[in-house]
Amino acid sequence: MRVAIIGAGMAGLTCASQLTEAGHEVTVFDKGRGPGGRMATRRVEHGGETYRFDHGAQYFTAREMAFQTQVRAWEADGIVAPWPAAKQGAWVGTPAMNAPIRAMADALGARFGTRIHALERIGETWRLAGADIAESFDAVVVAVPAEQVAPLLAVHTPHIAEAAQAIDSNPCWTAMIAFDGRVDAPDTLRDEGAIGWAARNSSKPGREADQECWVIQADARWSRAQLERKADDVGTELLAHFARAVGDLPPVLFSTAHRWRYAMCEKNDAGALWDADQRIGACGDWLSGPRVENAFLSGIALARRIEG
Ligand SMILES: Cc1cc2nc3c(=O)[nH]c(=O)nc-3n(C[C@H](O)[C@H](O)[C@H](O)COP(=O)(O)OP(=O)(O)OC[C@H]3O[C@@H](n4cnc5c(N)ncnc54)[C@H](O)[C@@H]3O)c2cc1C
Repeated sequence: MRVAIIGAGMAGLTCASQLTEAGHEVTVFDKGRGPGGRMATRRVEHGGETYRFDHGAQYFTAREMAFQTQVRAWEADGIVAPWPAAKQGAWVGTPAMNAPIRAMADALGARFGTRIHALERIGETWRLAGADIAESFDAVVVAVPAEQVAPLLAVHTPHIAEAAQAIDSNPCWTAMIAFDGRVDAPDTLRDEGAIGWAARNSSKPGREADQECWVIQADARWSRAQLERKADDVGTELLAHFARAVGDLPPVLFSTAHRWRYAMCEKNDAGALWDADQRIGACGDWLSGPRVENAFLSGIALARRIEG
């Protein structure tokens, strides 16, 4: 089959890799400027320096055998490494969190900067409404966050759209800060007031060790309460919370904040959804659980359903 995959996150790319291996002709589209999805890395040029911040997923674990095997293969390729500062069994992408996403996207020739607005059925095939898409497809996989599924699938597979609409995801405000000197704190902090998690990004393997880059993530409750505030104000406030948690801070060289409106979804046991009549499927963390590993497992589950 010619299969279109909408969404080049862990779920979509895993499904795409499996289907390619099984002999299908797969094309992956993503609206983002570059590879990452919620495993994104922000690259910033400022004051003659290049700073990088993993501002989405902070690390991942591998509990299931299938994901452990995949992580070992990535480790052999030098694109992931353990990061015990987070916890025993924690892994990160190297030199940046998005490295495994980038590797899969490159191998598949994923097309970035392509937002899909709608699907259109023409006879037995599917056309995608988005910039510069001339091809038609036999099947479509939607691998986007739950809240972004309905606009694509409400007309053709309302049962999948409804399942996605029933999911609620927590937001996460994230501050990214480069300091001029070392912060006197351990490499990771958890649950300090409004802060759910803070990490010295530059302590991860393969990062610029001479920089002092921090990622500070507010907890879900605080993020929800501040959802519609300006990023600059939220960044300033998270910095103040951080100072309360660790004491005096060195001068700030660079700071910005990002709002993840749909960061972490609920747990779900569906795995993946596949409508064999329409030849439309859905995968993503929202069908499994709020973790990188869940997104991977959902991508595998959908490829298996499609293969029958
Ligand atoms: C702040 C934060 C912290 C987290 N911390 C952790 C952690 O520590 N450990 C952990 O395991 N997990 C963590 N997670 C969760 C983890 O990142 C996700 O579960 C996982 O990456 C989801 O993968 P996915 O493929 O389902 O979705 P995504 O990575 O969101 O991929 C979906 C892709 O679809 C694209 N897209 C959406 N709509 C369209 C459209 N219309 N057209 C084209 N493309 C579209 C998006 O650009 C995106 O690239 C965190 C997430 C966030 C945001």
